Amino acid sequence: MKSSKLIQSACRYNFTTEEAHALAEQTLEKLKHHDVSANPIHFTLFFELLTSINPNIAEQVEHALQFNTYNDDSARVMFNALWSEIISHSLHSEEFSEIVNNLILYVDNWIKAAQSKSDKINAEVEQVSQLSTAQEMMDRLKSNVLPAIKSYQSETDALQEQIHESSTEIIRLKKELDKATAIAKTDELTNIPNRRGFHEIIENMMAEANKNQSSFALLLLDIDFFKKVNDTYGHLVGDSILRYLAKSLHNETKGKDSIARIGGEEFVAILPNTSYDSAIKLANTIREKIAARPLHVKNNTNPITLTVSIGVAMYQLNETLDSLFTRADKCLYMAKSKGRNRVHGEASL
Ligand code: GH3
Ligand code: MG
Ligand code: MG
Repeated sequence: MKSSKLIQSACRYNFTTEEAHALAEQTLEKLKHHDVSANPIHFTLFFELLTSINPNIAEQVEHALQFNTYNDDSARVMFNALWSEIISHSLHSEEFSEIVNNLILYVDNWIKAAQSKSDKINAEVEQVSQLSTAQEMMDRLKSNVLPAIKSYQSETDALQEQIHESSTEIIRLKKELDKATAIAKTDELTNIPNRRGFHEIIENMMAEANKNQSSFALLLLDIDFFKKVNDTYGHLVGDSILRYLAKSLHNETKGKDSIARIGGEEFVAILPNTSYDSAIKLANTIREKIAARPLHVKNNTNPITLTVSIGVAMYQLNETLDSLFTRADKCLYMAKSKGRNRVHGEASL
């Protein structure tokens, strides 16, 4: 019972140190039971067999053991398959696959070298046992056996060094990839999430709401007559107004709330654990604060009075993003058609 729980948690790759120790012990026991040496390759394959993290490989190992075809060569083939599969699943790029291929090559070379070294050591030891005096044995050990062991050790050190270098490189590439992914989800002008970022946030929010049987509010905000602002004051002024609006939204929301710029002058706020009434109230606060703050433009005596219209809809369990967004959009349309500088909620649709 305990071990099946351990295995389940290992399947999700989130086992604790104690669980990992227990699994390592079980793996070693299994290796011993099958009279297989605990080198990194056999250990990994038996670990897979025990946990079935990768059922395909676990099945292959099981089959090989059952039909007595499990040996260094068949293990190497399964190990290589496992390695490429695991890494190629999580990391897709030519650079990554090059590193992985090199790693497989290092391990392959090491196994070959290790095999011939171990044959050599065995042969030397065999020779030593045939010598008659202790002195002769000592001399032979020093001149032949020890150098062979040392050379085996240095091969292993070199492999470890290569694996270490490859993992450092993988970590570096992963960081670069994370950075590029973050950039792709961020709006360059306002530095808040863009439409792509919004999709990711709201999809997570919908999954969370479905899981917890909860809801969240969606505010869809559009600047009123923004084209006129651009036409009158120019695009640069328009751009700084967009930045100002992103900042204002950021200041008015808090904690787990999210904001995004999903189009030219269209923004959203996603408010988890917020009732419909509170969402309408917050939307009105945002609207009033923006309207109450005149924006001064360099070399212009008349400040701009910016206003926004906001549509408010609540997420209904298991509905699609499209259906939620359509309601918020209808509300925004109503706010616009009723004269702008307004909040319209779905209750009045
Ligand atoms: P409405 O009240 O009906 O929303 O009127 P509007 O003028 O705001 O709406 P419309 O859709 O006609 O025009 C939106 C304008 O937003 C057009 C474009 O000049 C401006 N815009 C869109 N993206 C940007 C941007 O990145 N920078 C600037 N400066 N303006 C933008
Ligand atoms: Mg618009
Ligand atoms: Mg507009």
